[in-house]
Amino acid sequence: MDDRKNLLRRIPAVDRVLNEPALSRLSASCPRILLLESAQETVAELRREILEAPQSSPDLSPAAVAQRAARRAERKLSPSLQPVINATGTLLHTNLGRAPLSESALLAMQEVARGYSNLEFDLDSGERGHRYAHVEELLCRLAGAEAATVVNNNAGAVLLALTALAKGKEAIVSRGELVEIGGAFRVPDVMAAGGVTLREVGTTNKTHLKDYREAIGDATALFLKVHTSNYRIVGFTASVSAQDLVALARERSLLVMEDLGSGMLLDLSPYGIPREPTVREAVGAGIDIVTFSGDKLLGGPQAGVILGRREAVEKIRRHPMARAMRIDKLTLAALEATLRHYLDPQEALREIPVLRMLAASAEEIRRRCTRLKRRLSALAEHAAVEIVAEPSQVGGGALPTTELPGFALAVTPRKLSAQALADRLRHGRPPVVGRIQEERLLLNLRTVAREEENELLRALDTVLRNTDDQPVGTLNRFQHG
Ligand SMILES: *Cc1c(COP(=O)(O)O)cnc(C)c1O
Repeated sequence: MDDRKNLLRRIPAVDRVLNEPALSRLSASCPRILLLESAQETVAELRREILEAPQSSPDLSPAAVAQRAARRAERKLSPSLQPVINATGTLLHTNLGRAPLSESALLAMQEVARGYSNLEFDLDSGERGHRYAHVEELLCRLAGAEAATVVNNNAGAVLLALTALAKGKEAIVSRGELVEIGGAFRVPDVMAAGGVTLREVGTTNKTHLKDYREAIGDATALFLKVHTSNYRIVGFTASVSAQDLVALARERSLLVMEDLGSGMLLDLSPYGIPREPTVREAVGAGIDIVTFSGDKLLGGPQAGVILGRREAVEKIRRHPMARAMRIDKLTLAALEATLRHYLDPQEALREIPVLRMLAASAEEIRRRCTRLKRRLSALAEHAAVEIVAEPSQVGGGALPTTELPGFALAVTPRKLSAQALADRLRHGRPPVVGRIQEERLLLNLRTVAREEENELLRALDTVLRNTDDQPVGTLNRFQHG
């Protein structure tokens, strides 16, 4: 106990710590209040360490304590949301922000953000304009729809459309399509939230047109089709085509709504991607309201697109909840720029990062791996690097059973565990996220942009060469968050 009392007494005073060069050096770039807080917290932390961990013997020299406080201050200063290199190979990684944006989309956001814009101002007439006019014509042209609007995300689009079209009534859904899309988005719960009664029909694997027909009652407002975007039912299955469902709905004066999930605007089957129903096909089949995400395979910003027949879209647009879900000008700018690429499918494939990654051939990825492996040969004493075949997932609840053939760099560190390597890369700047497989770290290049290759190499170089303890410095790259 006396020992510890002694140690406690040796903790330097906050003022003393503040005057050490490690901290005073930061005073130009760091607000004083943050430096003070960091020094106080560090001192308190040391006190706790000494009291709670009797074996601990922290370095209590003012210089060392100031170093610790400086790292704390730098953590407070650095942005929480930051770019990450996605080497997982999963294209639409929801945890990593889904779709990266095209250059034009980035530029459009920047230009609109910098000053004022005609967001809701009609430059022709000089009168009030409409926020969604900037994308409606494009969406209608690309999808063959009569009208379109946009909200914050597809979950919001589904909730809003259901509420506006079927509140207090019934919607008929096949049991094979009662989807859960991660988090709290479950079709039955969304319907309940929208005040819509769910009428389930059919079975998990088979639903027939007669199931829908027999379920129609006085309270029925619509048929809801949900794209089974994150699973597939295979084997002995049957579902009702959009055409047949639309024909039945027309006969009984009902609406048909389809939640497409990802919402493909292009048929990518020439690139070995399985055929998905495109938005245009759903609209062409006569579906009244189609909804889909902006940041899945479309490759744009987070948004929920609602399009289809004019009357139904108008009803949705006029609903009071629409105002609570409206998108901001930055999203609108990015969405418009992304949609413009699709006017020329070749341009879309060239400019939209998600489509470019989807269409990249396995051979192309292997060539990039070979080049990087060669550049990593200088690190041979620190790690063995191999090229291994590794397929990619699309992710984000799209094309669930599709594996895109590709390659990854498999890094086996010699002085670290693969887990330690992964941890340190994750704590670098920029952080790199890969996947561990049997004591090696896989870095899949399908989701790493060419422009990120140098940063990836630099990150590996730094981490593999510094295998001792956490390096100390003013900018600690391996800081644990
Ligand atoms: C992804 C998805 C959603 C949710 O879309 P967000 O844009 O993430 O809100 C809803 N329905 C389906 C079928 C989906 O795949």
